[in-house]
Amino acid sequence: MTFDVDALRKDFPILERTVEGGARLVYLDSGATTQKPLQVLDAERDFYLRHNAAVHRGAHQLAEEATEAYEGARQTVARFIGAADDEVVFTKNTTESLNLVAYALGNDRRLGPGDRIVVTEMEHHANLVPWQQLAERTGATLDWFGLTDDGRLDLTRVDELVDERTKVLAVTHQSNVLGTINPVRALADRAHAFGALVVADGAQSVPHRPVDVGELGADFLAFSGHKMLGPSGVGVLWGRRELLADLPPFLTGGSMIEIVEMDRTAFLPPPQRFEAGVPMTAQAVGLAAAVDYLEALGMDAVAAHEDRLTARALELLGELPGVHIVGPRDLTDRGSAVSFTVDGIHPHDVGQVLDERGVAVRVGHHCARPIVRRYGIPATTRATFYVYNTPDEVDALVEGVRAAQAYFGG
Ligand code: PMP
Repeated sequence: MTFDVDALRKDFPILERTVEGGARLVYLDSGATTQKPLQVLDAERDFYLRHNAAVHRGAHQLAEEATEAYEGARQTVARFIGAADDEVVFTKNTTESLNLVAYALGNDRRLGPGDRIVVTEMEHHANLVPWQQLAERTGATLDWFGLTDDGRLDLTRVDELVDERTKVLAVTHQSNVLGTINPVRALADRAHAFGALVVADGAQSVPHRPVDVGELGADFLAFSGHKMLGPSGVGVLWGRRELLADLPPFLTGGSMIEIVEMDRTAFLPPPQRFEAGVPMTAQAVGLAAAVDYLEALGMDAVAAHEDRLTARALELLGELPGVHIVGPRDLTDRGSAVSFTVDGIHPHDVGQVLDERGVAVRVGHHCARPIVRRYGIPATTRATFYVYNTPDEVDALVEGVRAAQAYFGG
């Protein structure tokens, strides 16, 4: 269960480049966005060169070909997550997918005072702010699972948080800061026993491990193309067929209507109901090429490769005095986002020393500010690994942290 990383890197010409000062690029920021293989760029270019047209409308051959390519992309994505084709809605990104669900639930007036929306303290702002807004609009109460000291969900309040008042449980499948993989299935089983809807943020899980929506147990799953080797500008909302069919639209306009009168409109069934306007067609085609690429590697092999890199990073960073991992320190229930702090050195300074050495990481609160507040720190330095990273690159990270300590006397 492995693949040839050196051979694979040839598909990513950007990894050959150097940064100012001449150091070779070590890209450890795939949690923010991934690099794109030639196969994805070629698929998009080929679409524009040979098939470009507005989908679902033209009475001409190009429009038919474009529609076929777009709907083919939907099938590819659906197969990848074990879904039916008409359960896959293309959006701009994870953020839009999550907003779509939150707004549509609000439009439906399903929630009101006395109802409860439950999130967690480790959510990306994209899976927190839309729920805060929904609570504000409907009068529902927002509550959340807190975190344990080792970066996992504190489930001691589960009986209190998930009961008959709970209407929505929104939880990240894998944290973009802590790396933690959450027990979505168990939480969903409990939430479903009380009739609540479960929304999973898959932005950091779908790109990194096999995810089957049947096994996951959630009702909705959101993820982004750009975090899984695909283009920016395309994301996915998966929803159970009967739930999507029951949901009113979020955006309205062309392409999503069955019939329009001057004073009223009937909407198409899903997925078209949720895809107003001309969609991001070339990007969807690029995303399908990214899925093909990942499937050729094998998602089990992708996860195993990342586990090896993560284990190395946890071990080597853990050996450095003054370096503290923020999140689970072992591989149980964790993915490849490794966040840490260094005593006496601000994460921005760590990031700068790494950057000068060509090592690209992210520093800050990573759009999940409640996490850094929970742990009483201003920010973290975060390395994230993907299919094209090597053990040498983990070592370059560790060497860079050592250099920062030597420079700043940390
Ligand atoms: N959720 C998580 C867990 C993420 O890591 C991200 C991206 N950092 C998002 C949501 C938002 O993704 P996007 O910006 O592609 O909408």
